[in-house]
Amino acid sequence: MADKFISERNLRFLLYEVFDAPKITQYPYYAEHSRESFDMALDTAMKIGKNLMKPKLTEMDKNPPEFVNGKVKVHSMVRGLMKECGEGGWIGAPFSFDLGGQQLPLMISGACRFILSAANYSASVYPFLTTGAAHLILSFGSPEMIESYVPKMFSGEWQGTMAMTEPQAGSSLADITTTAEPTDQGYYRVKGQKIFISAGDHDGADNVIHLMLAKIKGAPAGVKGISMLIVPQKRLENGQLVSNDVNTAGIYHKLGYRGAPITQLSMGENDDCRGYLVGEPHKGLMYMFQMMNEARIDVGLGAAAIASAAYYASLEYAQQRPQGSREEGSPAKTPPSPRSPSSSMRILRECSSSSGPWWKAPCRSSCSAPCMPTWPGF
Ligand SMILES: Cc1cc2nc3c(=O)[nH]c(=O)nc-3n(C[C@H](O)[C@H](O)[C@H](O)COP(=O)(O)OP(=O)(O)OC[C@H]3O[C@@H](n4cnc5c(N)ncnc54)[C@H](O)[C@@H]3O)c2cc1C
Repeated sequence: MADKFISERNLRFLLYEVFDAPKITQYPYYAEHSRESFDMALDTAMKIGKNLMKPKLTEMDKNPPEFVNGKVKVHSMVRGLMKECGEGGWIGAPFSFDLGGQQLPLMISGACRFILSAANYSASVYPFLTTGAAHLILSFGSPEMIESYVPKMFSGEWQGTMAMTEPQAGSSLADITTTAEPTDQGYYRVKGQKIFISAGDHDGADNVIHLMLAKIKGAPAGVKGISMLIVPQKRLENGQLVSNDVNTAGIYHKLGYRGAPITQLSMGENDDCRGYLVGEPHKGLMYMFQMMNEARIDVGLGAAAIASAAYYASLEYAQQRPQGSREEGSPAKTPPSPRSPSSSMRILRECSSSSGPWWKAPCRSSCSAPCMPTWPGF
């Protein structure tokens, strides 16, 4: 498979020449940054993508997560990646210095996510789901919740998830039946089933923190009765992590996303699943829209990233496979085949869908497609 998965030149062209990203450093929040620090972030993302993530892409695709004795086993690189992303500040990158973040503009952290997603999409979802879940706690949780959960999530020790979907409620979240019963101990007793929860259980992290939607007993019907709770897979008791009665019932594999487990979870089988209310009761869906909207952007970014990697893989394949004959009639040897009008159109279309608005840019010097003149470095 091709070594190349994105065009760094195009990414930098977009960031610096089209969007003038360094201009944002005029705002106090980003004042510590500069073009140099942006370049450093992009270079480091390229290094992680090239050296850690891309080499494991095929292996992770061929060996999806396994469900063994009620636990989910994932590729061994996941633990290393979470650690690397934690230590490198990637999980908390957009957040403020005092919360352990880097105050990196979203445009730059998004560009870095694009690089990592193009290198290995399913590996990239582990840290970036954690970012979204931690952001929910930062936005709507209490100071104690922030202190208890966010540092461990930013460090990559604990995985974060969004746990909304249920077997009978996908689009129609109004119909969720997971319940949260108040106790006089400050927590809620949670009971129910969740399905399709990305990274909902795995051995690449020491704990999984679910940002879960549930209905408090007696809540109004429909979406107006949905609350958000933190439901840890393991809860802290006397300084020890103990089981919180969140059990994995099974996993699913998804095409194009086979390196990450999609889990079915069962809470409260032993009446001992504790949830901690985030913000106010019945406002859970409104809170969750923060993460859903971020996920929508990330899914779009991921799709463009996968298209970019697919473009370079198919370009390399086409260039290594001489076939057909040249227009002048001589047999094809080198350079190879992508030269007929229809294949040129196809290449241009793939190139434009994976590379964005600079689609009019000419192609790499070694590409023989007649529609795209030479622009070295593309
Ligand atoms: C890759 C992937 C990762 C996911 N990760 C998570 C996760 O981490 N956490 C989580 O909670 N969930 C996750 N999900 C689940 C996701 O949230 C649901 O798939 C989504 O909400 C849609 O629900 P559904 O699959 O049950 O489809 P359905 O709700 O059954 O929808 C099926 C089709 O019917 C259409 N439809 C539904 N209702 C109506 C209507 N009223 N009118 C007209 N058309 C309608 C939909 O548009 C769709 O085309 C993930 C899904 C995928 C694909």
